[in-house]
Amino acid sequence: MSLIGEDGKREDGRALDELRPIKIEVGVLHNADGSAYVEWGKNKVLAAVYGPKEMYNKYLQDPTGAVVQVNYNMAAFSVDDRVRPGPSRRSIEISKIIGEALERVIMREDFPRASIDVFIEVLEASAGTRCAGLTAASVAVADAGIPMRDLVASCAAGKADGHIILDLGKGEDNLGQADLPVGYVPGTGEITLLQMDGHMTREEFDSALKLAIGACEEIHDIQKRALKHRYAIHKGGEGQ
Ligand code: ADP
Repeated sequence: MSLIGEDGKREDGRALDELRPIKIEVGVLHNADGSAYVEWGKNKVLAAVYGPKEMYNKYLQDPTGAVVQVNYNMAAFSVDDRVRPGPSRRSIEISKIIGEALERVIMREDFPRASIDVFIEVLEASAGTRCAGLTAASVAVADAGIPMRDLVASCAAGKADGHIILDLGKGEDNLGQADLPVGYVPGTGEITLLQMDGHMTREEFDSALKLAIGACEEIHDIQKRALKHRYAIHKGGEGQ
């Protein structure tokens, strides 16, 4: 099966360098200190943040700063086949890399011995949930009022049918040649998440990385707009 048509369009009609539609809503959960909901193509992801609060387990406390604990979970109904409930190797890995990506931007040093707990629930999954999860979590941390150097935005690029493409869809993720999820902090120029599955040449890697970073800048604007929208409404006394 061919993933890219002769007209250069992809299975869902996108151009090679085009993102799926992204929508971010801030402050969707009242019990959490911060929250965000992201719809990204067919992905639906919710992020909730609690803290900073004193780390319950004293052995896990860090006297130099807060510990960011991430729990990424795919709901049992998030894909066609039922996902087995509970942690898996994959969810443990994704929680770890998202936590490390957030730790780079959160001013952890302001909260010694504290924990910041981040929950990411994938309600519907269709490729790119770690990027959608990190993007949502970053906004939820900001919504919690936790000081950060900048928001981290995330997006994947990759290769399918010999072409470098942005933001892989489900078919491209399954049948493509490479997937390169990236987490990028526009304010500092840091890459805080970088993984690669599959094969690309050095040149292909460079152009995929450049494409993903450009998309992260675009997503960063969407994150900022969502936060501004939330607080502009509140200042005006509307909403809740
Ligand atoms: P990401 O969601 O970050 O792209 P993967 O590359 O591991 O992470 O997964 C790609 C896609 O495969 C997911 O978005 C989801 O649609 C699907 N998937 C992942 N795990 C499962 C699972 N246990 N059962 C069914 N589909 C899954």
